[in-house]
Amino acid sequence: MTRESRRKTDVLVLGAGIVGVSVALHLQKRGRSVTLIDRKAPGEETSYGNAGLIERASVIPYGFPRELPKLLRYALNRSADARFHWSFLPRILPWLGRFWLESSAGRLRQAALDMLPLIENSVTEHDALIREAGAADLVRRRGWIEAYRNEAAYARAQRDARALDEFGLRYDLLDDRGLRGKEPHLSGAFSGAVHWLDPATVTDPGRLVKEYAALFMRKGGLFLQAEVTGVAQARGGWSLDAGDDRLDAREIVVALGPWSDLVFSRFGYAIPMAVKRGYHVHFQPLPGAVLHRTVVDVERGYLLAPMARGIRLTTGIEFAHRDGAATPVQVGLTEPSAREIFPLGPRIDATPWMGARPCLPDMRPVIGPAPRHRGLWFAFGHNHHGLTLGPVTGRLLAEMMTGEPTFANPAPFAVTRFA
Ligand SMILES: Cc1cc2nc3c(=O)[nH]c(=O)nc-3n(C[C@H](O)[C@H](O)[C@H](O)COP(=O)(O)OP(=O)(O)OC[C@H]3O[C@@H](n4cnc5c(N)ncnc54)[C@H](O)[C@@H]3O)c2cc1C
Repeated sequence: MTRESRRKTDVLVLGAGIVGVSVALHLQKRGRSVTLIDRKAPGEETSYGNAGLIERASVIPYGFPRELPKLLRYALNRSADARFHWSFLPRILPWLGRFWLESSAGRLRQAALDMLPLIENSVTEHDALIREAGAADLVRRRGWIEAYRNEAAYARAQRDARALDEFGLRYDLLDDRGLRGKEPHLSGAFSGAVHWLDPATVTDPGRLVKEYAALFMRKGGLFLQAEVTGVAQARGGWSLDAGDDRLDAREIVVALGPWSDLVFSRFGYAIPMAVKRGYHVHFQPLPGAVLHRTVVDVERGYLLAPMARGIRLTTGIEFAHRDGAATPVQVGLTEPSAREIFPLGPRIDATPWMGARPCLPDMRPVIGPAPRHRGLWFAFGHNHHGLTLGPVTGRLLAEMMTGEPTFANPAPFAVTRFA
């Protein structure tokens, strides 16, 4: 790529995770010349290490729990599914307070309705890119399983699933026999399970992002591997310091996931983004053992996903500083439970991977223009569902940027809700 060709770029997209790559593809589809920039190769951060669910069934965002026993366990920092660094607690408390307020039944329902068009189109928008990218081998169509050890918890889960019938989700309720019919190598630890049928799963999310990025490049898009250090308004557009280069464009999109504050703080946007850290580690299955679908062991707070690399155990939430040292306590807490339910062999990874889910307290991402800076656009904060929502975000933002009618109402995602 020559300096000259860079100068002609219409749009600079910062961040080549699932969100940035999807934005780049959708802008390109609409005739924009796009340069995509990341300090690593595409899909090597949060979008690499997730659980691989294209979560069409998550119509209700993950709110702050309100059941007293759960709250007590959380408060005592005794839960495997959500933990915090004591020293970080004073910093995160105001955010948690806001998250709590946003998690009332009424507000959660409004969040669900706002997010619905994105969730409903999540699999179909991925499918369009998967077809074009030739990445069908990375995707499975078997849904995922939410398994319960305790009868009462399973009864509640059945009621909760039925309460979602208005959203038209497809699911099977499985007793122990039904569950073992689908997953013969799971132990008998479970009373029952909900098998969500609509979601797709990805066996290597990082590679999926790389395939999407390869499609973008095949179609003439430019990818530059460089650290973004400075962003500035210049000559009616934007200029960017990335490594040794200076790039110019009319417009710029911030899709830096948990690092998006690098730009939004610099331009004075007080967006309450926090991170929920999470870990994964891979295991070899013992010879002959097969896990066909992703299984969540709900009461024990972890998930097992059959991935290309092995069986991936992912953990729940850790509230800690984004850049603080890894403390994979939750991996240690959940591994014995995972070994109890499935014949796991040795760990494949020497050390657990750690990532940071970029989260807003109202459980909606920020998608849209920065109101005080013409040509600056935001696409970040996808919480637990960034892999799911990457392509729909790309489409929505590209439609907004090119003045097309939008497939979903973008108002709930406007950054002005925090201003
Ligand atoms: C344990 C775990 C499990 C999860 N499971 C799921 C799941 O099953 N389904 C789901 O939908 N979501 C899941 N998520 C959430 C999902 O992974 C994220 O929401 C999503 O990956 C965010 O994508 P992104 O593109 O915004 O960020 P990222 O993938 O982090 O991309 C941001 C990019 O910005 C780049 N960058 C940062 N700073 C700079 C800089 N200064 N210069 C240049 N480049 C820079 C980084 O290198 C990175 O590539 C999970 C997350 C975790 C942690």
